[in-house]
Amino acid sequence: MTASSFDLRGKVAIVTGGNGGIGLGMARGLADAGANIAVVGRNEAKSSAAVEDLRARGVRAIAVATDVTDKDAVAAMIARVTGELGRIDILINNAGMSIRKPPHVVEPDEWQQVIDTNLTSAFLCSKAAYPALKAASAGKIINIGSMMSIFGASFAPAYAASKGGIVQFTRACACAWAADNIQVNAILPGWIDTDLTKAARKQVDGLHDRVLARTPAGRWGDIGDFAGIAVFLSSPASDFITGTAIPVDGGYSVSA
Ligand code: NDP
Repeated sequence: MTASSFDLRGKVAIVTGGNGGIGLGMARGLADAGANIAVVGRNEAKSSAAVEDLRARGVRAIAVATDVTDKDAVAAMIARVTGELGRIDILINNAGMSIRKPPHVVEPDEWQQVIDTNLTSAFLCSKAAYPALKAASAGKIINIGSMMSIFGASFAPAYAASKGGIVQFTRACACAWAADNIQVNAILPGWIDTDLTKAARKQVDGLHDRVLARTPAGRWGDIGDFAGIAVFLSSPASDFITGTAIPVDGGYSVSA
């Protein structure tokens, strides 16, 4: 293996939720490795700022305003990326949200919103991207799970169900598409400082200190912590790795 095993020059990556947080951290890593990036999100101002950030790294970047829960919008997004950037090599299903309520309080429409955003979106985007990856005889899909792919949390029943589902969906796609030379893996972030967890820290008493106490690395994660794993799982260096769920958590998931 050489440094070129991590070279992404000429590749095209779609990053859902790439306009901020962990998605932007991964998009920056891919751009620094040479990939052109399609940033997918609903907030056009945030997406424009992310595109400027990525272009400053010397790659092509476009924003594609898309609600990833909408099947037709996802199909249009895939067509636009293929049309404007010429190909698709990498899909990162990162868009996500949470509604923090115990199971007896969550309403069915809230449940559905979380499942649609975190899990069904990964299905819709993967299915829509598959023909391009199959035609290229190569592809990488990275799905973003959570510590709640492993653990429960009283305040996050729909979120935990969606993130557990992401791991099983990853395994199913890995098996289905291995013969097409498409590798499908999941990343399980620990507790990372983003807009999502700023809200969680306001809503869940004591969360900030509990996370610090349990994380052997002694800190919350930073979005820059996701650049390396994103490049690795997008590059030829990981061609024999598929169906895994890799924690990026400062040791949270192995700590008692
Ligand atoms: P952010 O809130 O910063 O980012 C969420 C992103 O998802 C935004 O870019 C948002 O863009 C996008 N998004 C949400 N809904 C939709 C939608 N319907 N269509 C298109 N885009 C959408 O949170 P994080 O960076 O923290 O989260 C990123 C991923 O990481 C999520 O899947 C989250 O569950 C996961 N995660 C985060 C952890 C953490 O500690 N931060 C821990 C474990 C997992 P826009 O608003 O423009 O649509």
